[in-house]
Amino acid sequence: MHPQRPLRLLITGAAGFIGSHLARELLEAGHHVHGLDDFSGGWAERLPTDAPFSFEEVDVSAPGTLARVLGEEGPFDALIHLAARVGVRSVLRDPEGCRASNLRGVREIVSALEALPFEERPRVLAASSSEVYEHKAGPLVEGDATRDTSASGRWAYAASKLRGEEILDEASALWAAERQPIHLRFFNVVGPGQDSETGMVLPTFAECALRGEALPVHGDGQQVRTFALVNEVARVLRQLIELNPSAGGALNIGGRARTTIGDLAQMVLDHAEGRGTQERTDPLRRCGANFEEILYREPDLQRLQALGIDAPSANLEAIVIETLRHHLERARPSSRPQRGPSCASPAS
Ligand code: NAD
Repeated sequence: MHPQRPLRLLITGAAGFIGSHLARELLEAGHHVHGLDDFSGGWAERLPTDAPFSFEEVDVSAPGTLARVLGEEGPFDALIHLAARVGVRSVLRDPEGCRASNLRGVREIVSALEALPFEERPRVLAASSSEVYEHKAGPLVEGDATRDTSASGRWAYAASKLRGEEILDEASALWAAERQPIHLRFFNVVGPGQDSETGMVLPTFAECALRGEALPVHGDGQQVRTFALVNEVARVLRQLIELNPSAGGALNIGGRARTTIGDLAQMVLDHAEGRGTQERTDPLRRCGANFEEILYREPDLQRLQALGIDAPSANLEAIVIETLRHHLERARPSSRPQRGPSCASPAS
């Protein structure tokens, strides 16, 4: 792919948090974007309206759907697969449903591409997660140990992401050697428009603080996370798509804003005009007996940088200010029902 040539791109999960930011970023760069989403986790108000953008409300895991879209709307240069059942809260509610749905989506990609002529097959960049890594108290490198793909309960989401990587790698004959799939291992992407319903920590803290409620911090609050601002992640993804690097495989995508969850809660409170307090909670009571904490998560970003792509660099204070400033008016349209209190979790 050449950056100057407008690319034809297909995004699954386009009405989601990352997908909607990415769609805008790509449209602003002059590319053509076709978006797919079933609105199970995203919503229509997030979709671009002021740029040439086409969209279909479909379940990408439904048999034959992706094959039809690729046949009718393609050929595409790249398929960016972001659709997934996301977040610790929805995973704990139905771990096996989450696994099955995520894996059906990846298998549909493979069978849809098998039906296309070789030269019409888009390159696949598919969302994985930092949750695929085993515990390590230091920066995680792409070659580090990963979890068991049959892990269940709390780890069903991570296991489904890892098995999804494997399914795409097993189908490597679908693409030329220099167009192999890229597994996007995201580390805690946050910022304006993120939904707190799935249990993401920063939007939950922001909503609690702005409502003057206690911020639910798990345990001693010493869990370490590294946050990246979604606008910068969208820029990284656009550069990656335009660069079309010759090597596929796992790629960490994250930022440098490292903090403990307790310090994050305090920073949110400091910037929310002193409203609200921190409340130490037992995650097992809040999220159920299946919950298990990840104590440390930080990406090693050398592979990304070796591609010549600058990693997201926003510091934590900038991220918190940006999130608080935009969160309430953009996160959830008033038509969208509020559910019960979130299982605030530092998990991504
Ligand atoms: P999100 O929930 O906002 O977006 C996912 C979108 O996929 C939603 O709009 C949802 O409606 C859609 N979707 C789900 N199943 C679908 C289906 N079968 N058919 C069509 N659409 C479907 O989540 P996000 O934060 O934007 O995450 C995007 C991707 O990145 C996901 O795959 C997620 O697992 C991965 N990820 C995100 C983070 C993060 O920090 N946000 C971290 C690790 C991995």
